[in-house]
Amino acid sequence: MEIRGHHFLCMLGFRGLGYDEEFVKNMNEIIERLNNEQDMLIKVVDNVDNICALCPNNIDGECKIESYPGSVREKDRAVLKILGIKVGEVVRYRDIVNKIKENMTEEKMMNICKDCEWFGLGYCLEGFKKLKGG
Ligand code: SF4
Repeated sequence: MEIRGHHFLCMLGFRGLGYDEEFVKNMNEIIERLNNEQDMLIKVVDNVDNICALCPNNIDGECKIESYPGSVREKDRAVLKILGIKVGEVVRYRDIVNKIKENMTEEKMMNICKDCEWFGLGYCLEGFKKLKGG
């Protein structure tokens, strides 16, 4: 499984909204699988991943909204820098979640995600707060 940096935060607050039905189904399945198999090894990337695989914005392996609103890849890199994970590293999902708990803060998340079209819904931040609290 390959997951890009910023998607680790998206997954925390996912509530079935997305670009289309196929995308939502795929993302739901990935989240469910990771929650059930927390020892799964994840290759951490800063390009299209298993979630992007069924996204209508994925055109020939490139995110067509990469530069709007704000670079998607830069969001990946910013998240991974805070987590202390290098692009290309293979890490157990459980350890990634623990690193989010330990190193991510609401303020840092807001800085990275503020211009994302989904962030305004508030679900992502709620998911993060729940992780921190639980
Ligand atoms: S919008 Fe871009 S980064 Fe987001 S899931 Fe689709 S292809 Fe991936």
